[in-house]
Amino acid sequence: VEQSTIWQAMDAAHHLHPFVDNGALAREGARMVTRAEGVYIWDAEGRQYLDAFAGLWCVNLGYGRPELAEAAARQMNELPYYNLFFKSSNVPAARLAQTLAELAPAHINHVFFTNSGSEANDTVFRMVRYFWALKGHPDKKVIIGRQNGYHGSTVAGASLGGMKSMHRQGGLPVPGVEHIRQPYWYDEGGDLSQDEFGLLAARALEEKILELGADNVAAFIAEPIQGAGGIIIPPSTYWPEIQRIVQKYDVLLVADEVICGFGRTGEWFGCDYFNIHADLMPIAKGLSSGYLPIGGVMVADHIAETLKQAGEEFSHGFTYSGHPVCAAVALENLRILKEERIIEQVRSQTAPYLQMQLQTLADHPLVGQIRGVGMLAAIELVADKHSRRRYDGNGRVGALCRDLALKQGLILRATGDTMLISPPLTITRDEINILVERAGQALDATQAALES
Ligand code: PLP
Repeated sequence: VEQSTIWQAMDAAHHLHPFVDNGALAREGARMVTRAEGVYIWDAEGRQYLDAFAGLWCVNLGYGRPELAEAAARQMNELPYYNLFFKSSNVPAARLAQTLAELAPAHINHVFFTNSGSEANDTVFRMVRYFWALKGHPDKKVIIGRQNGYHGSTVAGASLGGMKSMHRQGGLPVPGVEHIRQPYWYDEGGDLSQDEFGLLAARALEEKILELGADNVAAFIAEPIQGAGGIIIPPSTYWPEIQRIVQKYDVLLVADEVICGFGRTGEWFGCDYFNIHADLMPIAKGLSSGYLPIGGVMVADHIAETLKQAGEEFSHGFTYSGHPVCAAVALENLRILKEERIIEQVRSQTAPYLQMQLQTLADHPLVGQIRGVGMLAAIELVADKHSRRRYDGNGRVGALCRDLALKQGLILRATGDTMLISPPLTITRDEINILVERAGQALDATQAALES
């Protein structure tokens, strides 16, 4: 405990954390996470937590796979770093590009590497505008995103995203970015059926394109399933209608696969799950199971060919694009996902079991809806199950439930009053039982706290 206190004091004195009230954190002291194995993490005081959030939606293989550490060590000793700028490449980056092309939908065969999902979306921002300029349409510049979409924290990522809290700080979005509504049937569907609402939400894109003029619209960006916004699963009518609209108006479709990619939905990509034909797919997170930072943009053939025929350089990239050690770890991660048939296992066994067990919480008085796809699930907390009325709608109940879950040894995330679940894909049935039991205890404790 003493050691932990020393570390906390060090952290409080010198470390500014992302997405945290740093004043409150400094007073309370950070949870110092020191160790992890499988689906569990431990803090410096020896407390164990079941990580039902896979870090930040990323530790798809679970913690502690020695093969990934060994792949990193081997590559570090052979070639720890070299850049891609000087017409050079490296073997892990080339192999990873080939492997990704094999996994992606048939019309996508190239990748541009970044270090994160945010940088992937900055790359998208520049690449779509450059693409249209090369095609002789320099006015096709506007990118349309969605309210509560999340595409990262850089200036372009936060602009493309639709998080009001992020826009408020720093005067975003930058010019040339617009947003449409999200397909959030539970909160916004009213009396419409899911299918009717899906069409309505998708047609907001058509209205926006007509308002701006199709000659000015470069791309539409969306997550196949909106993640940080609250695991918003679109009705089945949504994506086909979006697809019709982008095709009609010659607008590029960017499917942000940073969460959905690499097995989260029970398919390799969210695009496979919804049958989306994307032009660009930003990826990160599950690409390396979070063991090292690496991301990228998967690029459809017609865009890749346009870039290759430009006759000039695409003036964009990062010191660590295609970092050989990160690429080697990503390759090993993908090898394990494939050889251990983890995604097939998710689709046929793990995800159906997780979703079935979570439904046992549906009768809880606090629970308005439990929805899920693959290894993603959301629990809506409400004051009234039937009218869907929230307690106060400011996220207080969600934050309370998250904190009480932590006391039960369970890590959940809250978006407003929506509890989010996204465990490692490798979670076992016994561990799912523990997850659901602790989530139930957290709901009970939340209910008791609200009533007291
Ligand atoms: N896109 C999506 C859909 C995400 O969920 C995230 C992160 O949560 C990002 C992009 C940003 O990725 P990163 O945090 O690696 O920059």
